[in-house]
Amino acid sequence: MLKVKNVSKSYGEVKAVDDVSFEISEGEILSLTGESGCGKSTIMRIIAGLEKLDKGSIFLNEQDISSWKPEKRKFGFVFQNLSLFPHLSVRDNVFFAISKKDRTNKRLSELLGMTGMQGLEKRYPHELSGGQQQRIALARALAISPRLLLLDEPFSSLDELVKEKIRKEVFDLLKELKITTIMVSHQVYDSFLIADKLVILKNGSILQDGNPIGIYQNPTSEYVSNFFGASVIIKGTNNQQVAHTPFGDIALPNLPDQFSLCIRPENISINTADDYDITGIVKEKLFKGPHDVLTVRSSMKDEEFSFETERCSHKIGDPIFLKVPKDKILVFE
Ligand code: ADP
Ligand code: MG
Repeated sequence: MLKVKNVSKSYGEVKAVDDVSFEISEGEILSLTGESGCGKSTIMRIIAGLEKLDKGSIFLNEQDISSWKPEKRKFGFVFQNLSLFPHLSVRDNVFFAISKKDRTNKRLSELLGMTGMQGLEKRYPHELSGGQQQRIALARALAISPRLLLLDEPFSSLDELVKEKIRKEVFDLLKELKITTIMVSHQVYDSFLIADKLVILKNGSILQDGNPIGIYQNPTSEYVSNFFGASVIIKGTNNQQVAHTPFGDIALPNLPDQFSLCIRPENISINTADDYDITGIVKEKLFKGPHDVLTVRSSMKDEEFSFETERCSHKIGDPIFLKVPKDKILVFE
């Protein structure tokens, strides 16, 4: 439905977006993610028509809309600062988005119904909780029956306590309404909850894109692997197709000279001295409810890694022997 094709945008010397391409189909939810400053908002503004691109095109159903004005695109957006008008009631904030002839009570109650805000039309933004303001911003974005909804970190202004709940509510609503949505989220785990597609950016370029779980399982770089947080990284060198690491030697095919091994903690299991792949000394053990977080120090070199595991009986200073299926070890140059 929407195709972003070879889009680039610079601000002076800064290449904010560098040859980015991706597409989204009708009804899909796509999540754009990456560190602060990687170009997410610039891409969103280009799609919305609020920013001109230097190179490339935006296609809507095969039609080049790169030069269309924002109004003509009929995209709804909710950006980080919700930009509700403080001097307008809920009703007028929502009506602001629609043409005069469509400002009917029926349409209003439809939109407030969709977002769970019935009965609050007379309130002013300062009389609403953060979550309610969020929903009004969403109702306003939905008022034009957008072809595409653009959400740029819409939750970042909420406090931690309500954030979870509101995120869940908004996600449920988006799924229910089957609205084609591109959302920017700092929280990479949001993409597992809701997104059909994940696009990971770094310095304005796409590092990897695809199905979120597929990316989690098969990251193509150490950066992406690390992006999901829980990753054990062990540096090693190639010794005749044996990975020589501070935690032991592992025979692995196709090794480069120097590399990092990335292992998801769920693929590590604690075993015994007669059958293991990597080993070290328990340096630290943290109780984390149903889990323990163990820090393992190399017995040869001053290297360590931490991973979350099931509760175990190891004590600090104990040797520990770990098994990792070879096909679950990712090797990055
Ligand atoms: P993100 O949303 O991922 O944090 P942005 O798209 O806002 O990133 O910014 C990407 C890069 O472009 C950053 O280096 C930022 O400083 C720069 N940038 C964004 N907007 C402007 C602007 N209007 N003028 C100059 N530089 C900008
Ligand atoms: Mg941003």
